[in-house]
Amino acid sequence: MKNVAVIGSGTMGNGIAHVFAQKGHQVALIDINEEALQRALKTIEKNLDRQLTKGLIDEATKQQSLQNITTYTRMEQGVKEAELVVEAATENVDLKLKIFQQLDELCPENTLLASNTSSISITKIAAVTKRPEKVIGMHFMNPVPVMKLVEVIRGYATTDEVTNQIMELSRALGKVPVEVNDYPGFVANRILMPMINEAIYSLFEGVAGVEEIDTVMKLGMAHPMGPLQLADFIGLDVCLSILRVLHEGFGNQKYAPCPLLVNMVTAGHLGAKSGRGFYEYSHGSKELVVAETFRK
Ligand code: NAD
Repeated sequence: MKNVAVIGSGTMGNGIAHVFAQKGHQVALIDINEEALQRALKTIEKNLDRQLTKGLIDEATKQQSLQNITTYTRMEQGVKEAELVVEAATENVDLKLKIFQQLDELCPENTLLASNTSSISITKIAAVTKRPEKVIGMHFMNPVPVMKLVEVIRGYATTDEVTNQIMELSRALGKVPVEVNDYPGFVANRILMPMINEAIYSLFEGVAGVEEIDTVMKLGMAHPMGPLQLADFIGLDVCLSILRVLHEGFGNQKYAPCPLLVNMVTAGHLGAKSGRGFYEYSHGSKELVVAETFRK
């Protein structure tokens, strides 16, 4: 698969374009927002420079990777020669269904269509296309150039052949793919989000403070980051929407989002991206500072 198109050039899209370009694929990076595309190119260059400094790549690979990426604001221009499309647009069901309907019309009939969705059903996305057997989940982790895992999600109609192709391609990208079936939250978020929700409940009920909860999980369970810091990093709005998918999808109260999480999202305290969540991020240093609301 020489030609790959990536839809959406935000946090995940730029990382996905980066890893494909670094492995020699021609990448069409597509976003409706020209500024997002320019930001993505800058981020990719910065991340390639970091790999260069660490001795992971050489200057020629950096230059070649950048040359392998072409940006487009119009989907029809970017996808017409794609053998694989990886969609990483905003996590919104209606938007994704519309994008896949368009992709199905615009792409050659053999093109495989993958989504990087964190929580939306691959089967549902596949059902709006005329090629559900060629639609699959390719769930990269953030930050994409660093994280090894790709959760490969088989929709109800995805064939063995397509699954094997995507498993093989993920390995060729230097990743470790894991095949999972299409049920709410897949595996990663089905296990991660209830843990984060439980950490928020522990704070909400006064069992312990922010730093204490994160320290227990870091030092006690050898997690590199505590669950509250991780929630801030992922985005509290993203955590809330995934918990809602689990809650609705299984109809089980154990996935009900903690009221504190709901309040924080409503108030716009979304974590690192908004400058405030369980910690504060507006002080300009990398030091972890507990948000004022949660200080003792
Ligand atoms: P983001 O908000 O950083 O970027 C989304 C990009 O999509 C934006 O640049 C936006 O302009 C663009 N976009 C919106 N509509 C579009 C359209 N019609 N065509 C082309 N581009 C369009 O979001 P993100 O964090 O990169 O998430 C993207 C996807 O990856 C989501 O499905 C999310 O669930 C999933 N994901 C996110 C993470 C994470 O940690 N952020 C991890 C794994 C998976």
